[in-house]
Amino acid sequence: MEVLVAQKAGFCYGVKRALSLAYEALKEGQEPLYSLGPLIHNPQVVKDLEGNGLKIIEDMSQIKKGALVIRSHGAPASVFTEAQNKKINILDATCPTVKKVQEYAEFLREEGYQVIIIGDKEHPEVKVIEEYAGKNSIVIRDKTEISQHIIQERIGVVAQTTQPGANFLSALSELLKIAKEIKVFNTLCTSTEARYKESVELARKVDVMLVIGGRASANTAHLTHLCRQEQPHTFQIEAADDIEIPWLDGKKTIGITAGASTPYWLIEDIREKLLSKFDGQ
Ligand code: SF4
Repeated sequence: MEVLVAQKAGFCYGVKRALSLAYEALKEGQEPLYSLGPLIHNPQVVKDLEGNGLKIIEDMSQIKKGALVIRSHGAPASVFTEAQNKKINILDATCPTVKKVQEYAEFLREEGYQVIIIGDKEHPEVKVIEEYAGKNSIVIRDKTEISQHIIQERIGVVAQTTQPGANFLSALSELLKIAKEIKVFNTLCTSTEARYKESVELARKVDVMLVIGGRASANTAHLTHLCRQEQPHTFQIEAADDIEIPWLDGKKTIGITAGASTPYWLIEDIREKLLSKFDGQ
């Protein structure tokens, strides 16, 4: 059995930055550190952070004092205001790429455009962008959701950073048909795009493709979808225990890629287990 690992698999710079801010603060240990929801979409890393003292809370009412680390997805303005009022220190780990989307959305709103956000309405990153984009902004998942809610002829477009490029482009070409004036910011994350591209190329070459990542991770879900279009034997896993023996039956080449919240040690662990436990089955 041959196991090929995508070179761009694993942590992106936004996740690395959030983790290093959190671990540094936990090491200093001067005050309790909180995060609103899991810091990243990886259960093993989240468990380790909790073991080192990070407290995960659901809402701001659960924090009275200490410090709050903002996730790479960003947080609504109300969180920053409440933290300031309560004198809670903020460690802002909002990814600079995500911050740019917020700034563009705000700029478009101020310039009088109706802002269209291409992305997943339920994703925390998109919820924050919506806040900056204003009340008459709308979120569409893809071109099929372009609807009567577009009320203005001047529209401004941004995308959730982890959207696949093809989805962004096809939605844009439909929007061009209805807008009199359109202003577009390409807000796609280049590191995610590079990961998608490399993983799809790998999926074409192998007999089975394994995509490692948390089940709640948007970029991992897109990665799995894109790889599956090229290789129907594509499976998303969180750990080596999720691998089912029949998936590998008679397969010679296994490809591995991973979402942006997956640590390198986990990728390596799965690669080693494939070679030691499953090879020859
Ligand atoms: S995937 Fe891209 S935009 Fe999202 S946190 Fe990582 S580097 Fe930032």
